[in-house]
Amino acid sequence: MLRQAAPEVFQISLMPRNSINCYIIEGVLVDSGIRSSYTAVKKILRNIPVYKHILTHAHADHQGCSDQICAEFSIPLLCHPNEVFRTETGLVTTDYPAPQHWIAKLQQKYWAGQGHKVEQTVVENDMIGNFRVIETPGHSPGHISLFREHDGVLIIGDVATNMNLITTAVGLKCPPNIFTTDQQRNIQSLQKLAQLNPSVICFGHGPVLHNTNRKFEKFVAECSAHNES
Ligand SMILES: [Zn+2]
Ligand SMILES: [Zn+2]
Repeated sequence: MLRQAAPEVFQISLMPRNSINCYIIEGVLVDSGIRSSYTAVKKILRNIPVYKHILTHAHADHQGCSDQICAEFSIPLLCHPNEVFRTETGLVTTDYPAPQHWIAKLQQKYWAGQGHKVEQTVVENDMIGNFRVIETPGHSPGHISLFREHDGVLIIGDVATNMNLITTAVGLKCPPNIFTTDQQRNIQSLQKLAQLNPSVICFGHGPVLHNTNRKFEKFVAECSAHNES
């Protein structure tokens, strides 16, 4: 399902209840869902052309059909240098705290896509159209977010989710520990993003949040306090 979240920002909801999303921002595909998302993503890209594909991070629910999409549309793949190994090999769970966990094994077997050559890497302050690359490590070592200054649109990846991934109840959450390399570092990345005062937040998991009452900043303050105690 396709929804417009802001000018030239489209949310592609790949699973019921927005549980896995990817986005098209100014002609760039951000993430690609799981391996079986290919048909749905391909169909949408026939109507909304893209010239590049970038990953917030190389987990199975974000790179799942990246190889097929890049091949089908002949577009380059971009990610942060610290995501290159997993992006190119498709060994996506190698930075999990417990790569041998049964859920990690299931994700690798059924969700992950083939590896794909990274054409270009991106780091802090690089621009993707009008979106600035913000390094937000923690959930994974080379996780990035994308921020458009003039209207406050933030593509947050998995630094936070707007859904409980087990119950699917909507609400702000830190990503689950079992899929997160370093939760402390992830909270520091959340604090960095809160300082940007985002207006519209687009998550890898959960519905888009219109941050009218500074809900996001309050959540980050709570996480930070909780983590210090
Ligand atoms: Zn992730
Ligand atoms: Zn994810």
